[in-house]
Amino acid sequence: MIKLLIKNGIVIDARSNISEKLDVLIENGKIKKLSKKIPLKKDDDIEVIDAKGKWIIPGIVDMHAHTREPGGERSETIESASKAAAAGGVTSILAMPNTNPSTDSAEIIIKLIALAKKKAIINVFFSGAISAKREGLKLSAIKNMHRAGIKAITDDGSAIMDENLLHQALKLSKQLNMSLLEHCEDSHISAGGVLNKGKVSARLKVPSIAREAEIFIVLRDILAAAYIRAPLHIQHASCKESIELLRCAKKSGICVTAEVCPHHFMLTDEDAASLNTNFKMNPPLREKKDITALKKGLKDGTIDVIASDHAPHPKSEKKKSFIKAPFGIIGLETMLALVISELVLKKIISKKRMVELLCLNPATIMGLKSKGSLMPGMDADICIVDPLKKITVPRKFVSKSCNSPFIGRKLSGWPVLTIVSGKVVYRR
Ligand SMILES: [Zn+2]
Repeated sequence: MIKLLIKNGIVIDARSNISEKLDVLIENGKIKKLSKKIPLKKDDDIEVIDAKGKWIIPGIVDMHAHTREPGGERSETIESASKAAAAGGVTSILAMPNTNPSTDSAEIIIKLIALAKKKAIINVFFSGAISAKREGLKLSAIKNMHRAGIKAITDDGSAIMDENLLHQALKLSKQLNMSLLEHCEDSHISAGGVLNKGKVSARLKVPSIAREAEIFIVLRDILAAAYIRAPLHIQHASCKESIELLRCAKKSGICVTAEVCPHHFMLTDEDAASLNTNFKMNPPLREKKDITALKKGLKDGTIDVIASDHAPHPKSEKKKSFIKAPFGIIGLETMLALVISELVLKKIISKKRMVELLCLNPATIMGLKSKGSLMPGMDADICIVDPLKKITVPRKFVSKSCNSPFIGRKLSGWPVLTIVSGKVVYRR
């Protein structure tokens, strides 16, 4: 029997509303007991971890990650993404479907689940594409994929532009009690754009993406979800107006959840003015007023989840011009430190709210009943954090790619130990 005892750390759990010094006993991959002092018996064959001065939180559940496998193994694989995740305190990820081929059938989902079982050191869950080949034309085999084990449906990378198709997909997501995740971007509005439409894009004379591209789809989808009463989840919300629409929808009792990514509450389009392609992502970096709105939404409960949108790309691709380089940045390894540095240490959100946003809520949305909390009986997926540890983000990552806009930035609060199913998978 594998046993672990974590002693002297501050346990932070949103579900049980705990934030206090407790010992944690792990047996057979599960949380066995939380108590003020768990004594060590002489005959115990047990590994003891001293977590003095550290926070013990549930392993992070990142519901937005691109593992790039199959088809994009030059930038990342399921194995390398899982190692990057472990280094970031992330113990479960939801892989996005825009691989090559895309994950749009039960056959490919079954294959990938088996591959993840063999290669990944954390839990890798999969989303299924809403439309066949992610072409936005007809539904994929959603019911079969659901049977095969997908945790959500999305065409991430693109929105479902066809309203009829969206309605069909929402009806299925309601029937299967599985969230539909929408990448909110009206492609007619955003086509060709690379930077937020505003002062910076005008000054640099680069093609831009108007905020309406996001807002229109957020509004349309909220109305559709309200009409069908289906569980809708808005991915990577970046605009002030999206947050206001979400707040309004939630007040009216509409079943909608939403995520934001750290780069959207950390950086603005001014940061992208150097045209360094590590600042090119979709949705694009917005403006100060948007950061203010995102932080307000994180604080007041309008936003449910923080996700990384980990999007690795090889150097050769990101070396291209700002217009030609692909969208996306990596994020698994820096997400927790960004959240602690920018939100927790600056007292915008509490430690418990951090755990709700990073662990409990994403687990709930994905239907992972035994994850996201440290209550006895839950899976022993744990992240031990040193809140005072300061590290300057290096050029080299555990991920196969290094396209991060945070290289060189000094951040506080890093994971020092990651446990998955009671097994230590990462030590800093
Ligand atoms: Zn997306």
